[in-house]
Amino acid sequence: MVKDPVCNMDIDEKKAAAISNYKGKTYYFCSKVCKEKFDKEPEKYLKESSESIKS
Ligand SMILES: [Zn+2]
Repeated sequence: MVKDPVCNMDIDEKKAAAISNYKGKTYYFCSKVCKEKFDKEPEKYLKESSESIKS
């Protein structure tokens, strides 16, 4: 299992709706919408995933 960096959902790599490569790493997404968000601002989501998010 991996985490969707956009919505923080657990994703099965084999069932991912979308995949993106960024700086040599592969990221998996629950939907194409999440992938599009990530592709627009990857740094934003990578920073947020390494810190605790308060929403
Ligand atoms: Zn998602």
